[in-house]
Amino acid sequence: MASQKCDLIIYGSSILTQDNNRSQISNGAIAVTGNKISDVGTKADIDLRWNSPKTLDAGNSILMPGMINSHTHVPMTLMRGVADDLPLLTWLHDYIFPIESGLSKDLVELGSQLGCAEMIAGGTTAFLDGYMYEEAVGKAVDESGIKAVLGEGFFEFPSPFFKTAKQAWETIEELHEHFFSHDRITTSVTPHAVFTTTPDQLIESMELAEKLNVLWQIHCAESRAETELTLKKFSKKPIEILRDNGLLTPRTRIHHCVDVTEQEIELISSNKTMISHNPQSNLKLGSGICPLTKLISADITVGLGTDGAASNNDLNMFEEMRTASLLQKGILQDPTAIPAQIALDLATVNGALFLGLTDTGTLKPGMRADITAIDMDKLHLKPVYNPLSHIVYSATAQDVKLTICDGKILYENGKHFSCDVETISHEAEKAVKWALNRLKKQ
Ligand SMILES: [Zn+2]
Repeated sequence: MASQKCDLIIYGSSILTQDNNRSQISNGAIAVTGNKISDVGTKADIDLRWNSPKTLDAGNSILMPGMINSHTHVPMTLMRGVADDLPLLTWLHDYIFPIESGLSKDLVELGSQLGCAEMIAGGTTAFLDGYMYEEAVGKAVDESGIKAVLGEGFFEFPSPFFKTAKQAWETIEELHEHFFSHDRITTSVTPHAVFTTTPDQLIESMELAEKLNVLWQIHCAESRAETELTLKKFSKKPIEILRDNGLLTPRTRIHHCVDVTEQEIELISSNKTMISHNPQSNLKLGSGICPLTKLISADITVGLGTDGAASNNDLNMFEEMRTASLLQKGILQDPTAIPAQIALDLATVNGALFLGLTDTGTLKPGMRADITAIDMDKLHLKPVYNPLSHIVYSATAQDVKLTICDGKILYENGKHFSCDVETISHEAEKAVKWALNRLKKQ
């Protein structure tokens, strides 16, 4: 049988396909044509079935789907480490808000370039964002070669960014039109939280999400403090506000869900609403611990996110997988809670569902070629009994040796091909002075 032609064949010592059977392949290969995977199998089978003008031998490495960050504010990389170890409201009002209210489109773009470069180097190929000036975020995403669902955030009107609801809706629609035919970028409707908006705004914004047929994402039930604020303002809990206004829907994406009751979990499940789990951000901000095991038992699709780099302080999905698993084992005093396979599912298959992407998160024919390779020639990854175990319990973002998104090699052996990391790093250091000046002026 004559072999077929493809554009690229990638070899690795093992493959975690994340297909329906969660198959692992030893001495594997992936054939890529254009931006899609044509075939996945053993090296011997792929060499027999395919020929390619280009091959890439990732050597002793694990090939797996590019990871999907279900919740971040990518421009916040510029505020990484500006203030830590503070009560949430002090942190927000004395540091984050004064800096954010002076942000320009250029700075948002710079922070996004930095975040995209960091995610690519850490094996992440898609993320769900929420911030201001999302068109500038989209520009950085477009140039870096990564994928994103953008979300132009809004608070109660007037805000520093939108005087009226009309202005916000127009900006969201323009953003949607701007990226409508983009291959790697979609958009969402992104109210900040129930306590920073009004129920009417939430309802109107959901109507907009329905009209545009996009996701509707919101921070909700992030902490006990948020619940108390919401109770004080509306005499209802955050999830009750979503329920009473018809906002728990299959297009709704809730970030955090730390302070929820069993009845609320049932409600979220029966409405097929999805949840993003952000363990390191929840821990660092002292928000509490999300009942991840209960969410999964209730059949809720849960994605995994880093949240912004100001509250994490990185965009490292390996750390999130490990923390998600260890946290549940610890609080439940149950070492069987969130096993490695579930942790990897959160970061891949579930992440794709969370972002509304049907063609990524899995390595199988017909899916987009979003692939990362982890270098197994590291001391902390020796010896190998089970590649899956190392990915969740031993590997770090620095072990990523290759990242491919939509069939394009974006990163290999420490080198970026789509991001000018020298300029980005230099400009990011310059932004420190700008940010500190803003804090001095207040
Ligand atoms: Zn957030």
